Amino acid sequence: MNAADSERLRSQLHASGLEEVEKKPDVVVVNTCSIRDHAEQKLYDFLGPYAKRKREGDDVTLVVTGCVAQQEGEALIRRVPEVDLVLGPQYINKMNDLLKDVKDGYQLVATDPTLISEDVARPVRDDPYRAWVPVINGCNEHCSYCVVPNTRGVEQSRTIEHIVEEMRGLKESGYKEVTLLGQNIDAYGRDLKPKRSFADLLQVADSVGLDRVRYVTSHPRYFSDRVIDAVRDLPSVCEQFHLPPQAGSDDILRGMRRGYTFDSYMRIVKRIKDRIGDDAGITGDIIVGFPGETEEDFQRTLDLMEAVKYDNLNAFTYSPRPFTDAALAENQVDEDVKADRLQSVQRLAVKHGLERSERYMGRVVEVLVEGRNKKVTSEEECMGKTRQGRQVFFEGKVDELLGKLVMVKIDEARPWSLRGVLDGIRL
Ligand code: SAH
Ligand code: SF4
Repeated sequence: MNAADSERLRSQLHASGLEEVEKKPDVVVVNTCSIRDHAEQKLYDFLGPYAKRKREGDDVTLVVTGCVAQQEGEALIRRVPEVDLVLGPQYINKMNDLLKDVKDGYQLVATDPTLISEDVARPVRDDPYRAWVPVINGCNEHCSYCVVPNTRGVEQSRTIEHIVEEMRGLKESGYKEVTLLGQNIDAYGRDLKPKRSFADLLQVADSVGLDRVRYVTSHPRYFSDRVIDAVRDLPSVCEQFHLPPQAGSDDILRGMRRGYTFDSYMRIVKRIKDRIGDDAGITGDIIVGFPGETEEDFQRTLDLMEAVKYDNLNAFTYSPRPFTDAALAENQVDEDVKADRLQSVQRLAVKHGLERSERYMGRVVEVLVEGRNKKVTSEEECMGKTRQGRQVFFEGKVDELLGKLVMVKIDEARPWSLRGVLDGIRL
């Protein structure tokens, strides 16, 4: 979501006649993330040298946008008085108007809740074949560890018409893949009049005729069978489910206010496997060391991983966030314990990742070529993904194959990736 916001910011800046430069910028825009403390700290490290330049007399405009901007508001200006504009995520498409006010000498904080209007300019995107398309902004959940409802505000769905118009534009410009974005994407449309559902949106999104439609993030509490059926029946919608469990213990899940249990989560996984088959990719996020997490609770997280065998898993140590209930809990878990648990999760995730990769051995799979293998210098080593989201490397001319759908015969399985041999070009 943060990357998608940056692309929208860039289009605004271009529209106002600004150009990107490598050195000595007149305007610096930092788009921030505050999901964990680490991300937030980066902001202050980054701002330091620019603030110094400004104190020494340079005329540089400093803008901080994104979730740290929203979270800190006025406090950010008190901490770094050189900042000219603090802009919450809901104000991204009002950036240019506010920059004009800054030019007139104002120091501004734009963080009051507001209605997000449609962008006037289209995002300037990083990738020519794969695009992010936000469909619902904000989040009405109040998971007790999470800063997002505070920083991104209440749910605001874009209309199906606006989303589809954007997707059609992308298809016409040669895009192959779109990832629909929402913090709780299953909530899509419940604030619209008349109400719409995420499954309705998938139906219409498929009709655009892109090769691949992906979406994140599904919430196990709201996830519906209609979405599973949409994935099964709609040709462009990829067979990947990003369904973060966060934890396996029912007590911890209750403390997190997630609204599901180990068993109800597993029932969803079973329905996915029953309707789509074992080939469906299932990925997730896990937090270890939530306040009060005992060894027994943690074991349930490992049990859940065993039961699911995730294709890919992001694991994090719990990070206390401002204005969240869990941060106030007294039974915080020691950092050493968190670090050990993180390692155990990662070790098991690698084992499962490899097991899941092995199912591809000997198969010929469709891969969308995304770029070159960044780990090798060769120009002839392509990187792409299967429909289920597995990374694939193979020898081939990157410049010729970029953005194409190709068939690759898999002959090597690694925990998070596959290797294979080019076996034909689909398009
Ligand atoms: N809306 C999505 C996730 C958004 S944040 C959802 O509900 O699943 C992405 C991931 O960051 C979360 O899934 C969670 O695993 C992690 N995360 C969020 N807050 C965190 C915190 N305070 N400490 C550690 N990890 C956190
Ligand atoms: Fe945060 Fe929960 Fe909303 Fe996800 S669903 S953004 S974890 S509050």
